Amino acid sequence: MDYLDDSIVDPLTSADYPDFSDEVYYSSNDGFIYPSGGDNMNENTSEPIIPLESQKESSSFSMSTAFSAYMNFGDGGPDVVLMSRDAVHFFVRRNRLLNVSNNQFALLLSPYIDSSFQTAQQPIQLTEDAQTLNIVLHILYGVSFHVYSPSLEILLQAIQTLEKYGVVLSTHLIPGTPLFDDIVLKTPYQPLEVYIVAADHDLFQLAQIASGYLLSISLLSIPRMQISRLNSDYLAMLYNLHIARTLVLQRLISRPPDEHEATFQCGFSAYQAMKSAWSVATSSFILNANPDVSAALIRNTLESLKFSLPCIRCRKCVQDRVNEILLKWSITPRTICRDTGYYFSVLSPQDSVPGITYTASILPTWSQV
Ligand SMILES: [Zn+2]
Repeated sequence: MDYLDDSIVDPLTSADYPDFSDEVYYSSNDGFIYPSGGDNMNENTSEPIIPLESQKESSSFSMSTAFSAYMNFGDGGPDVVLMSRDAVHFFVRRNRLLNVSNNQFALLLSPYIDSSFQTAQQPIQLTEDAQTLNIVLHILYGVSFHVYSPSLEILLQAIQTLEKYGVVLSTHLIPGTPLFDDIVLKTPYQPLEVYIVAADHDLFQLAQIASGYLLSISLLSIPRMQISRLNSDYLAMLYNLHIARTLVLQRLISRPPDEHEATFQCGFSAYQAMKSAWSVATSSFILNANPDVSAALIRNTLESLKFSLPCIRCRKCVQDRVNEILLKWSITPRTICRDTGYYFSVLSPQDSVPGITYTASILPTWSQV
């Protein structure tokens, strides 16, 4: 049985629409109505497994509950049916989709209802699965999708889908929008994947947030396949973040504490001894500096130097220097910047220690990847 007549019909009155009573269909908690009957269902996924042609013959019909044949978001009843890859039907308004698309929904929708290439009576077959399409349509209609608790994979797939259908991402992917905020909440679990997708669509704010969770990873440990997916500009920004923060830390801890005014008990020779002790204490620290060194590690390493100093004024100089390093390290940017110089703005002229050059091993050596 065809579920749409050859003419434009009102789904509320059409006798050809399936009967969505509980005896024939059941409403799943994933937001779709499926045909009942164990023989037709995949027990593991609760997804319909009946091919479309079979559905037509057997009257099996899977439909979105949010975008059902009876939906009305205040702009009239549905006049277009979208069908996901897994044969779930979504009833939507043509104008709603056209208004947010700059490519006529990937050229699948005509602004003219009697277009020769698309008629309102036929479902439009899409390549996206029902879960992704459901989230995308919620975004386009400006309604919350949180009840479905979509996975990060679905949310990132939604980004690809929105762009495919001509939706301006900067409208729906800014702080405060449901899609942006939900992705940000899940970013700590898969920051690299979020960074790659954000970079692919030049979503700087999202990539910036994801980059903050990538400080602890060695860039050399990223598999070549993932590196190859990464936009070159964003790959450079990620490397700059790691290199710049490492350089800043090296310069901060390379500068010894200041010298106090000479006293009868402590003078130039004592200060030279303190500088030498500082150099010894920090040498391996400088060598192993990385962009994610914690403040606690810096404090524990450098403050221990005080206990070997007999002069109370020297100890205060050490403490002041440690405090200054911790303060500057805390304000060193932890995320990607378009202007690399921003990282070094925390340094004072005295922090630029001559002779300290960057030769750390985090520079890319692709043959080792
Ligand atoms: Zn002293």
